Amino acid sequence: MNRIIRASAPAKVNLVFEVGPLATDGYHPVNSLFLALNLREELTLVAGNPGTGVSIYVHGDTLPEAHINAVPTDHQNLVYKTAVLFSQRLDMPKPDLQIDIHKRIPVAGGMAGGSADAAAMLVAINEFMHLEHGTPKLSLEELAVIGAELGSDVPFCLYGGMAIGTGRGQIIEPLEPLQMETHWLLCASGKGLSTPTVFHEFDELGKHGTFSDLGSFAQVSSIAELGSRMTNDLEPAAFSLMPALSEVVTHLEELGAVRAMVSGSGPTIAALFESEAKAEAVAKVLTAEGLFALTTTGMAQGSTLDS
Ligand code: ATP
Repeated sequence: MNRIIRASAPAKVNLVFEVGPLATDGYHPVNSLFLALNLREELTLVAGNPGTGVSIYVHGDTLPEAHINAVPTDHQNLVYKTAVLFSQRLDMPKPDLQIDIHKRIPVAGGMAGGSADAAAMLVAINEFMHLEHGTPKLSLEELAVIGAELGSDVPFCLYGGMAIGTGRGQIIEPLEPLQMETHWLLCASGKGLSTPTVFHEFDELGKHGTFSDLGSFAQVSSIAELGSRMTNDLEPAAFSLMPALSEVVTHLEELGAVRAMVSGSGPTIAALFESEAKAEAVAKVLTAEGLFALTTTGMAQGSTLDS
């Protein structure tokens, strides 16, 4: 019988995103506070027929169709790259796999959708190669090393919870869990923003942040305090590229969000609310206005094997 492996991984929001000036290695150093959200990508993996390589099918019923259509299904998909890199690490030939990705995270939205797919794939292929080919199972730390080569957000999507990310965001220091549940509204844009374009605009604007001590966030004891400490150095760059975003932020705060902010490189706006009921009521208002909004909660687990 063909074995089916299911895995999932969370979206992230950057509660704090501090960005330093462009370094000589071509990257910007960051000091980031990640929170994993209960908005999960689900990946299903089965063995393909010999010689068929990696085939990928992407679907989803909660996102606008344009988001699903924007995801490549060939060698450019991060899941495909994950299969190639993982098998290289194990000195194995590239496996024959059929992969189904159930997308829930807005695409090119600053919520780590592709990184979550890669993180789910890492735990799935780790299990698959072990069961099918008897390869030793890699630890979470070893998977995170492979993940960091695939994308800066992949290690955090593996770990989940709340964590500080330094370097390019790929060096993860897990923190104690937040002492409360957080309620979020995510307002996705019809058009994505490319992360390199936003960093380029950040350089043009020339306003680098300073790095603060993020370790104390685990002691935050109210939603109001959490909201007041949220910052994103990339927000001015995202506003400059998409001026309508700043209107959405103001609108959300007028409607009762404790804090609304561009998530990572955007253009998704993440808005923090005191309660689920309030977040859902505001999501209904935005939907009636023709915007795309969904609600979710944090914190969430990192990548899990779901069967
Ligand atoms: P991050 O927050 O990690 O910077 P993002 O959430 O802004 O990333 P993604 O949804 O990961 O952005 O997509 C960025 C681009 O990556 C997409 O435009 C798409 O072309 C490409 N891509 C490759 N693989 C995937 C995937 N599995 N899911 C989504 N996009 C993918």
